[in-house]
Amino acid sequence: MQGKIIKGIAGFYYVHVAGSGIYECKAKGIFRKENKKPLVGDNVEIDVLDEKDMEGSLVRILPRKNELIRPAVANVDQALVVFAAAKPDPHLNLLDRFLVMMERKEIPAVLCFNKKDIADGPRIADLEDIYRGCGCRIIFTSAEKKENIRQLKEILEGKTTTVAGPSGVGKSSLINLLQSEIQMETGSISEKIARGRHTTRHSEFIAIDENSYIMDTPGFSSLYTNDFEKEELKHYFPEFFPYEGQCRYNGCDHVHEPDCAVKAAVDAGEIHRARYDSYLDMYEELKEKRRY
Ligand code: GDP
Ligand code: ZN
Repeated sequence: MQGKIIKGIAGFYYVHVAGSGIYECKAKGIFRKENKKPLVGDNVEIDVLDEKDMEGSLVRILPRKNELIRPAVANVDQALVVFAAAKPDPHLNLLDRFLVMMERKEIPAVLCFNKKDIADGPRIADLEDIYRGCGCRIIFTSAEKKENIRQLKEILEGKTTTVAGPSGVGKSSLINLLQSEIQMETGSISEKIARGRHTTRHSEFIAIDENSYIMDTPGFSSLYTNDFEKEELKHYFPEFFPYEGQCRYNGCDHVHEPDCAVKAAVDAGEIHRARYDSYLDMYEELKEKRRY
């Protein structure tokens, strides 16, 4: 039988099989041997061990469209990167790391600044300005005042979206507003979890409607993005693309090289300095392979 892992807790995987419900499964030893860890979002094949109690065993992971390490999820269509426009002030360097990570994985990102109700006009204009060229859609929401929630729903329509961002920015509040009344066919998952196994950190699938899902993922405060070469980094900043080929040197990294078109564009205000500063910071980190 085939299904999708919608939740993983302490060695148990909850597999949603359309039309049948949710099976509680353990992974077979072969996954450990192959060093392949099942992820939330994985499409899997299961053997049913007990039809009545809906217990099974994971036997195979079907090929992944993509996979993320942090959050650990597979087969996502897009990422909703949530930060607060204020309280806490958005940590732009961290935000840029998210965007680089998504660019690398070729996962389209939507940038959501929540708490719009407590951010002043100049702050919002500033954020719009900084991220104008970043290549992703930007939305300002307020979970508190229910502003732009319908617009957010439209962005999520028909897709599987991973929600990422630091804690305290309003992710749970937004997810609560988005969550549909329709729960996934059965309440069995909550019963099973209520049996007493829990951990605080896990990813989980939440249905918005029949064909739209969001994956709520544990919050975190830092990201490692030093697992690639520094020369690659410039390919993850879409605002640099129009200047490609205009620098004096072929393969210019836009750092110390003379006659660099990207640096000139930063000086001219065509590329936002905040984004370029993030680039430099990440570049130095990659150069030294230091940890963030
Ligand atoms: P999470 O940690 O990202 O899931 O954030 P929460 O949803 O738990 O929200 C953190 C705090 O911010 C809570 O006190 C919320 O009431 C508050 N909050 C969430 N969304 C908004 C918003 O749009 N505006 C304001 N003013 N506060 C919000
Ligand atoms: Zn250059």
